[in-house]
Amino acid sequence: MADCRETIRQLYSYLDEMLEESLRVQISTHLDECPDCQDRVEFEYTLKARIRARAADEPLPDELRQRLLDCFDMDIDG
Ligand SMILES: [Zn+2]
Repeated sequence: MADCRETIRQLYSYLDEMLEESLRVQISTHLDECPDCQDRVEFEYTLKARIRARAADEPLPDELRQRLLDCFDMDIDG
């Protein structure tokens, strides 16, 4: 059974779904029983989601955008 320390240590791997099944179940079981760790996971999860959302909003660099446009042009003309 994972304890709080182990859970925090594995938190990012858990969120990224990088853990092997047995460890994932241990963390998941601990989370069911530990409000402190639940809070922590929720916080990290929200933070990650926000960072990802921001990254998606970021405008593309000009060079990359131009390259994409070039690709689209080819499709449209063809
Ligand atoms: Zn805990």
